[in-house]
Amino acid sequence: MRVLGIEGTAWCASAALYDAETDSVLIESDPYEPDSGGIHPREAAEHMSEAIPDVVDQVLTAAQDRHGPDAVDAVAFSRGPGLGPCLRIVGTAARSLAGTLDVPLVGVNHMVAHLEIGRHQSGFDNPVCLNASGANAHLLGYHDGRYRVLGETMDAGVGNAIDKFTRHVGWSHPGGPKVEAAAAEFAAAAGETDIEEGSSRGAAEADLLDLPYVVKGMDFSFSGISSAANDAADEGVPVGEICFSLQEHVFAMLTEVSERALSLTGADELVLGGGVAQNDRLREMLAAMCEARGAAFHAPEPRFLRDNAGMIAVLGAKMAAAGDTVAIAESAVDPNFRPDQVPVMWRTGESV
Ligand code: ATP
Repeated sequence: MRVLGIEGTAWCASAALYDAETDSVLIESDPYEPDSGGIHPREAAEHMSEAIPDVVDQVLTAAQDRHGPDAVDAVAFSRGPGLGPCLRIVGTAARSLAGTLDVPLVGVNHMVAHLEIGRHQSGFDNPVCLNASGANAHLLGYHDGRYRVLGETMDAGVGNAIDKFTRHVGWSHPGGPKVEAAAAEFAAAAGETDIEEGSSRGAAEADLLDLPYVVKGMDFSFSGISSAANDAADEGVPVGEICFSLQEHVFAMLTEVSERALSLTGADELVLGGGVAQNDRLREMLAAMCEARGAAFHAPEPRFLRDNAGMIAVLGAKMAAAGDTVAIAESAVDPNFRPDQVPVMWRTGESV
């Protein structure tokens, strides 16, 4: 089966072809990059309307050149969660493409796709998943036909919390990679790196700012830490020091709740998903935690972590194979589509 996936929940206009026979994925993406500030929904939607036809055309042309006019067996699209104006453009494109090609339509939950790509690549049976993305942050575990939300942010998504700080100090979007670079530079300048101990913090640990650390069971909160980081910048604390401390606090919170989820479910596998998962320090902390408790850890390659249509096409293929397609008349998008609303028809009989 070959599935054409379309993604466009916020900033990344993307199309992909997944070939289940060869387990190969072709992805074409065109990101929206705001000149200043964060993601503006109207501008992001304008970007989608311009970029989606192009990326779809590139992928479809490549598919048909290689496999002929019937190259695509199904069209999958991000149905939510995401920005309504963007989702509606993606939904319209997917419906018209499925109609033109006369193939089934598959409506994919974007957050479940962030999880399933890690499960698919790792071959893990039944992992806990930490989704660390821009607009979301939650822990998922499969039980009785659904991905249950074991814990989640009580306010901002993890990437949005970091981006809120970088906007405050005048850095362009996305802020996460810039925070990672500034934190690494600060750590290097503060002292040596201690690779042997599995840590790149080195002597910088001594300079850790006291920022809010809010974990309640497996839920957590980032709004206080964003404000405290902004206040520290206003008080003249060097930005690199704030970036370092921000990362250490935020990622320690995510590591603590992930360990609690592994402990409570008895699972021994953790997969990481979402754009923030591209951060080396987050992966390092989670890998060290998993190693210490004898759990396996997998983070997909970066092109499958940030928003991308590859993960939509891969999950779309699993859903289509399970007969989980949607009629065009019932394919409305849902900006608040939660992962635990999805009946998981492509796997059965397992639970954490
Ligand atoms: P969602 O998947 O919840 O809809 P999203 O649409 O914002 O989120 P993602 O691609 O999952 O998209 O994540 C984007 C976020 O990832 C941004 O907030 C960005 O700052 C952050 N990010 C990207 N690279 C890094 C990095 N190296 N370190 C930390 N954060 C990063």
